Formats: sequence, structure tokens, C-alpha cells
Amino acid sequence: MTHSNCLFCQIAEKKIPANIAFEDEYVIAFHDVAPQAPIHILIIPKKHIGTINDFSEQESHLLGHMVLTAKKLAKELEVADDGYRLNINCNQHGGQTVFHTHLHLLAGRQFSWPPG
Ligand code: AMP
Repeated sequence: MTHSNCLFCQIAEKKIPANIAFEDEYVIAFHDVAPQAPIHILIIPKKHIGTINDFSEQESHLLGHMVLTAKKLAKELEVADDGYRLNINCNQHGGQTVFHTHLHLLAGRQFSWPPG
């Protein structure tokens, strides 16, 4: 289920420290080490799934759970009403650098559209 050479698997297994914001059976959320906004949290499935391309139908509940975890954190952190951005990068053109799927929760400042 986990890959020993994957950075985010090692965070999920507590082998590498992270500032954890939330954890349950399926996901773990931790603060990004290089935040792009006042609030920048990564929500990952505990199961190693490299990119969005690798999700199966059977794993689709994990994506819903990741989004609902972001919603819950946004409410707890009192940014739900002002708003926030959820972002998943996939492969090179998407700007993905860590190949364990993660949902970025970004909040606390104004974002523009379209992104650069
Ligand atoms: P992406 O470019 O979508 O793959 O995002 C990877 C994110 O992981 C970046 O925002 C990095 O700052 C973040 N990151 C890399 N290493 C760590 C780490 N050890 N702890 C927390 N966040 C990390």
C-alpha cells in the first residue's frame, strides 16, 4: 500500500516529520513546507496513488474524502466564507513534483484566474 521511497508515504507513516493538521483512516493532511499562501495544507490519501491518472473507480471515494477533508479544515480554520482554492497537479504540465497524489488547500489571500 505504501512505497518506501515515496516522501509522502513516509510522512503518512510518521517516518518523516510534518506539521499534521488532520488524520483519519483514509487521509492525512499536513502543512506545506513551502507555503504559497497564509494557509497551505496538503491532503493526501494514505494509500500510495501516484497521480490522478492512477485512480480507479474503486478509489474514487478517496477523492471525495480528500475534498470533504479540505472543506472541514477550511471551516475549522475560519476561511470557508472568505473562500479558498483546491488544486491537484498532475504530471509535468500540471506542475506535479511529488508523485503521491495530493490536494492543495490554499487560503488566506486572493487568488487570480486563470492561474499562470
Ligand atoms: P506539487 O508541485 O503539486 O507536486 O506539490 C508538492 C508540494 O509538496 C509542494 O508545494 C512542496 O512545497 C510540498 N512539499 C515537498 N516536500 C514537503 C515536505 N517534506 N513536507 C511538506 N510539504 C512538502
